[in-house]
Amino acid sequence: MKVHNFNAGPSILPNEVLYKASKALIDFEGSGMSILEIGHRTAPFMAVMEEARSLVKELMQLEDDFEVLFLQGGATMQFMQIPMNLLENGETAAYIDTGVWSSKAIKEAKLFGYTDVIASSKESNYNHIPKQFTIPQQASYLHITTNNTIYGTQWQSTPESSIPLVADMSSDILSRSMDFNKYSLIYAGVQKNMGAAGATMVAVRKSMLGKVTRKIPSILDYRNHIENGSMLNTPPVFAVYITMLTLRWLKEQGGIPAIEKINDKKAALLYDEIDHNPLFRGTVVKEDRSKMNACFIMDKPEMEEEFIKFCKKEDIVGIKGHRLSGGFRVSMYNALPYESVEVMVEAMKYFSLKKA
Ligand SMILES: *Cc1c(COP(=O)(O)O)cnc(C)c1O
Repeated sequence: MKVHNFNAGPSILPNEVLYKASKALIDFEGSGMSILEIGHRTAPFMAVMEEARSLVKELMQLEDDFEVLFLQGGATMQFMQIPMNLLENGETAAYIDTGVWSSKAIKEAKLFGYTDVIASSKESNYNHIPKQFTIPQQASYLHITTNNTIYGTQWQSTPESSIPLVADMSSDILSRSMDFNKYSLIYAGVQKNMGAAGATMVAVRKSMLGKVTRKIPSILDYRNHIENGSMLNTPPVFAVYITMLTLRWLKEQGGIPAIEKINDKKAALLYDEIDHNPLFRGTVVKEDRSKMNACFIMDKPEMEEEFIKFCKKEDIVGIKGHRLSGGFRVSMYNALPYESVEVMVEAMKYFSLKKA
């Protein structure tokens, strides 16, 4: 391990994945060519794509109606591609606003139909997940952001919904057991918890598609990507390869249930320190705390820079909070070892003793 990498995204990847990818960068499976030098329609790459797609289905235990795609344009493109494909002109989609990413999704949906923001935690600087809301039965879908990367909140359970559920899971995908089959569309930029920047995973139920009357440009129509096995045009070859290796790694660890246990332990260790160390204070309500991104501040903000410098000496990187929320954000994605959290907690303890 080089450093303790708490970056929010792009973020830490398993060492084994980086090692294998570095070899494939020079010679992919003994072909005498780099993974970057082979055609995407060659058998070896098609196998990579198929394995990545089927591992997502397997690890998330998705029903047969789901199709898994690896697209470009980031999670941000899904903010518009989802309403373009699912929201009929003049109809309404329901959204719950839990932070920057949700509000961006809402803004884009307005280009295609009506939006009904049925709950928002904006008034309290997004420090919690709204609990009181009524889902409008006539809405085309309900969109939630399961983990709010910037503010550090996370839905603890899937809301009961009789209308199709759509979720941005960019920052907690594959980190915890959930009934993914309660959703109709799940998407995630892969660069946080499942791979390298450049690809976005979309898992969509085929039964959701083909219902809108608007003309959809070919490249933006999910049906075309499905028909072409996520190879409508040149896919982000290297990003998909890294994702496939990361999915293989996750399966070897024992899949989602096994990684969830470690993620729970990591989060418990860090939050316990935040709650007991007199210098630090969590910024979101306890019951909605994210196990992926822990946000906290210091009562004496003038000490924050000093703490970050101190951490740097301990090889702790990536803990500065987002500019909108300030303080610190410690991201604990799947690939982050438990030991890194131990080092972080030791640093907090030591710094606090030094200042006492
Ligand atoms: C990072 C992030 C995004 C944006 O992802 P891009 O791939 O950069 O477009 C969207 N939603 C959430 C929850 C994120 O964490």
